[in-house]
Amino acid sequence: MTAPLLFDPQPQPVVPVEGETGAYPVHRVFCVGRNYVEHAKEMGVEVDREAPFYFLKPATAIVVAPGEIPYPPGTSNFHYELELVVALGGPAFRVSRDEALDAVFGYAVGLDMTRRDLQLEARAKQRPWDTGKAVEQSAVIGPIVRAADYAVGDQALELTVNAEPRQSARLSDLVWSVPELIAHLSTLYHLDAGDLIYTGTPAGVGPVVPGDAILGRIDGLPDVALGIAAAE
Ligand code: MN
Repeated sequence: MTAPLLFDPQPQPVVPVEGETGAYPVHRVFCVGRNYVEHAKEMGVEVDREAPFYFLKPATAIVVAPGEIPYPPGTSNFHYELELVVALGGPAFRVSRDEALDAVFGYAVGLDMTRRDLQLEARAKQRPWDTGKAVEQSAVIGPIVRAADYAVGDQALELTVNAEPRQSARLSDLVWSVPELIAHLSTLYHLDAGDLIYTGTPAGVGPVVPGDAILGRIDGLPDVALGIAAAE
């Protein structure tokens, strides 16, 4: 017998799939730290060549683009981070790099929105990054393109704020490749359908303020437009 729910569950976050009516239900949101050399430098740290590292956001942080979010509470330094997002469509546990892409459903453009002041304060005090990273409405994502229609290569990534260029890099600049990330994460988690991996951001991160319009793009994937509205 199943116990009756005492209140309505929070809605299941879903992401549209390009050209299809079905939606992709999100299970977990994994994010990779320091996966572009030039971004690690601008943050005053170095890339760890031994293994990638991760943080998570709640699935409820998902915001489908195009969209608008209020400037979040508790920060005066809210940053954009443009990222390639890998969407998994099947199980992966202790998979090899050669097997890793079998678990990929597709790819999307994402923004890992960050309360940078809180993240850096936590980093300095050797505390967890949750309040800086697991921010409400901070996992922005555009429509997913199926893996059959997209292969990660040396595509350009570009982000503008109010049409001014801020981030420009290529996917070939990734320190840890998509198969390497999936294989490594699968040593730690039973990855499965609905898991998203935000693969890290290139150099050029910076703050936004209410009224700003962010546009993130990766060649071959739908653009992501995000407006920043007034704080609540
Ligand atoms: Mn990031």
